[in-house]
Formats: sequence, C-alpha cells, structure tokens
Amino acid sequence: MSGKIPATLIPGDGIGPEITAAVTRVLDALGAPFEWDLQQGGMAGIQSAGDPLPGALIDSIRRTKLALKGPLTTPVGGGFRSVNVRLREEFGLYANLRPVKTMVPGGRYEDIDLVLVRENIEGLYVAFEHFIQVGDDPHAVAISSGVNTHAEARRIVRFAFEYALAHGRKKVTVVHKANVLKALTGLFLQAGREIAKEYEGRIAMDDRIVDACAMQLVMNPWQFDVIVTTNLFGDILSDQMSGLVGGLGMAPGANIGEKAAIFEAVHGSAPDIAGKGIANPLALLLAAGLMLKHVERDDLASKLRTAIEQTLQVDNVRTADLGGKVSTADFAGAVIKRL
Ligand code: NAD
Repeated sequence: MSGKIPATLIPGDGIGPEITAAVTRVLDALGAPFEWDLQQGGMAGIQSAGDPLPGALIDSIRRTKLALKGPLTTPVGGGFRSVNVRLREEFGLYANLRPVKTMVPGGRYEDIDLVLVRENIEGLYVAFEHFIQVGDDPHAVAISSGVNTHAEARRIVRFAFEYALAHGRKKVTVVHKANVLKALTGLFLQAGREIAKEYEGRIAMDDRIVDACAMQLVMNPWQFDVIVTTNLFGDILSDQMSGLVGGLGMAPGANIGEKAAIFEAVHGSAPDIAGKGIANPLALLLAAGLMLKHVERDDLASKLRTAIEQTLQVDNVRTADLGGKVSTADFAGAVIKRL
C-alpha cells in the first residue's frame, strides 16, 4: 500500500497553474502517493522549450505512464495542432471516461449519476482537412474526413460494457448519427450491437441518435446510465452533461490507453478568468480522484470524495461558478480541513 508512484504533472495554461497548485496541496494533505515530475506543455511549453509538446514531456509520460494535466490552450482556426489530441494519439489513449455526478444539491437537477465514454482517437477528430481553391478564393470549399475503424469501435464499446459491469451499472446507450453518417457512425452502431450480444442478460443496451439524445439529456437525464459515443459527439455531450451538475467546474475526465493514462478536467484554460484566483479546482480535483482509483487507492479516493462533499454540502463553501465566493486557494484549504 505504501511507496511512491512516479507521475507527470503538467500545470498547463490559463487557470491551469492556479487549479493545479490547489489540487496538489489537497493531494499532499491527503497523503496521496504521487511523486511528481513537473513538465510544461501548451503555451507554457512554447515559452519554456519553444514547443507546445516538448520532448521532455513525452519522455516523462513514457516513463511514468501516468499524468495529471491542467488545460492546454489550442489556437482556434490556424496555429499548432491540439496538444491534447496529439497526446491521445502518442499514447494510444483510446478511452475518454467522463463521469458526472450531483455533488451540489439545490441545482436544476438532483441525483444525476451518469458516465460518458467517448472514443478518443478517431472520428472527425483525426482532422484530415483541406481547402479547395475556386477562382481567387483559396478557401472556397472546406473538406473534413472522419475515420472510424471497426476494431476501435468494438474496443471502446467493450470498454463501456466492462466499465458498466465493474461499477454495478445496468445499461449502456450507444449514441450515433447512423441515419445520416451511415458509414462513419453506422459502423459504430454496428459494433455496439455486436458487443452488446456478449453482455446480454448482464448489461442492457439501447441506442440514440445524437440530436435526440441531447434533447433527452435535458428532459429526462435519469433514463441514461452509461453512454458510449464517437469522439466529436462525446466532446459535445460531455460539456452538456456537466451542465446537469453545476457546469464545467464539476466535470473530471480520464484518458486511458494501453501505454499510459492521463487525468484532466473536461474544461479548458478559461482565459476569461485566468490569473484572478477564482477558478473552481473541483474538476481537476475529481480527476485526481479518478487517478487515485486508477492506481488502486480507492481508500484515498473515497476519503477525498467525502471531504469534497462535506465542504460543498455541510460547510457551504463554493467558488463563484457554483454561486459561492471563495477563491481557488481557499476552497482547497476548506477541503483540506475536512480530510
Ligand atoms: P473553457 O472550458 O476554458 O471555458 C468555458 C467557460 O467555462 C468560460 O466562461 C470559463 O470561465 C468557464 N470555466 C471553465 N473552467 C472553469 C473552472 N474551473 N471554474 C470556473 N469557471 C470555469 O472553454 P474555452 O474558453 O472554449 O477554451 C479555452 C481554451 O481551452 C481553448 O484554447 C481550448 O482549445 C482549450 N481547451 C483545452 C482543453 C484541455 O486541455 N483538455 C479542453 C477544452 C478546451
């Protein structure tokens, strides 16, 4: 049970350094076993090493196979390719696990407890894109190709069913757009139906078209349990689902593959509030909880969860996004008092 576990720590951009400092303080107080190797990436990587994905960062994760990562800024439109996407490709992080659970009572929805499993390395996210020039307009036509493979679709759906089995879940919903993107997402639905047969009698399976699913998540989210979907749909639906439990400040994510696992908040670098000390560190703290479970320290993960729940529910200590007024650092301090 004792012994240090080497892990890479990437503070990231924007609010990243603020929430990472808060989270590592809580983890230290908890007695978490991680021995951090600090590395820079994103804009911070450009500043320190002239590269948004420095070799030292890659080498570190190759060695530790485990990372806690703050958000990394990606330029919109032009500029460098998303470092997050490159990390997923580099380490074959095929599964993106995004649980959402009500922790702050009195919101618009009570008792939400859903898990989204997102395919993390294929789909439209491969970003095979180009423009075609017509006349003197070089951007007259934009083309993007998505790629889904039968093997990868089967692997991610199996991951969702195995997760459901291991966590006492009852149903997996496969979300797609097979009525229009008949090849790209029809293949995903086909894989869903194939894998579901192996779990018949143990885990139920149904499916939804993504637009209907988005509506039903607002009307009656309790009908869902585990959702598995393609890369782009998962990106969008997981932000929507975080809105059921208080917003992006509450949503953790785990990127899991055979070569490594990287834990992060679902949200980005939040440039609008960066440097103000008011960001909610909870999403990254909950991601650290997923990381503790990953290294089989369920004891510490549940101690952390209880302290967070007491801070939010008994002490009523919350950051501004949850209607409170404490700073990032003071929220961390309040959780530490509850450990
Ligand atoms: P964002 O998630 O950074 O912010 C959206 C809104 O949510 C903002 O109003 C922000 O203030 C708020 N918010 C986000 N996190 C919060 C927190 N912890 N506490 C309180 N409020 C919070 O999305 P964006 O503005 O579209 O993206 C900014 C940058 O982040 C972009 O460069 C984008 O590419 C990047 N991004 C990175 C990741 C990642 O590293 N995994 C994920 C998403 C976006």
